[in-house]
Amino acid sequence: MNASTIRFVLPALVASIGLEHAVHADESDTVPRYITVIHCEPQESDESEWPSLVNMIKACEDRGIKACIQFSDEWIPFIVDNSARLDKIRSWRDWGHEISAHHHTLDHPSYWDGYSNDPDAADRHGYQGDMQDFRWLISSVLPANSRLTSISTFDDDMPAGIPFQVGGDGGPGPDMAVSIPTLKWLTQGPAWNLTTAALEQGGTWYSDILQTIFLKTPADSVFGIAIHPHAYHEGEEAEFDAWLDFLAAQDPGGTRSATPTEILTPYAFTAGDTNYDGTVDGSDLAMILAAWGTEDPHADLNADRIVDGSDLATVLANWTIDG
Ligand SMILES: [Zn+2]
Repeated sequence: MNASTIRFVLPALVASIGLEHAVHADESDTVPRYITVIHCEPQESDESEWPSLVNMIKACEDRGIKACIQFSDEWIPFIVDNSARLDKIRSWRDWGHEISAHHHTLDHPSYWDGYSNDPDAADRHGYQGDMQDFRWLISSVLPANSRLTSISTFDDDMPAGIPFQVGGDGGPGPDMAVSIPTLKWLTQGPAWNLTTAALEQGGTWYSDILQTIFLKTPADSVFGIAIHPHAYHEGEEAEFDAWLDFLAAQDPGGTRSATPTEILTPYAFTAGDTNYDGTVDGSDLAMILAAWGTEDPHADLNADRIVDGSDLATVLANWTIDG
């Protein structure tokens, strides 16, 4: 059985085991862990949105709340060449926020961002590349020595090499606010998922119903909302501030706030388990060697766009010891 066969046989195996995990909660925890995801939309990439994003994150920090800041492709050009903005991103990461990615697929109801793994996409007007191209573009604003670990995208456009998916197929309705880490086996491999509900959509705020849902969410589940910088334009901060104040009242200091990557990391496959069979062994070593010198995202474990000695070292360092 070769490596790619293994990759397609395993899903059935894993699906039959039913990998879903409740999140660890101490008995004293009554508040669920919660994620606050900021979608930086491709069709709202005007630079004038940047101050709204900055202010929104400051408002989260004032209450000790971590955010997951998700950039789409059209935000990258005015960040990547601006050292003050890159410094800001580094400071957000250092504070404890997550820098992540937001993708609009070909069939997005309002706006396609030009990237897709769909074979028909290359013929469509506005095509810019596949999802690996998208991944590297977004990665260009990450601080040095960090990698993109989560993305919001529909299932069929999940890039290989990113272990965590936020949102996914389906609408952003209030029913999406509560989830537990759930494994999806997608075309590119495994992805652990959490979902989010839109706090504001098309000018309508869902704060009241989402507050009710938050208060009913079990402590071993995850509560997630998504919001956009356009909801925090100057003079229009009251709704989101009120939402953050609600969270701060339930969770003083934001100790239950988390990033998707923090919550999902304990469930991720061991680094070096390139065929996702639960052990790091000779078959993983063979995959590294077969992909040597390439960009194969399944074997490029440290995401530096080349399969080389450092990826081999990761496999050896995580080698499964029998017994
Ligand atoms: Zn969006």
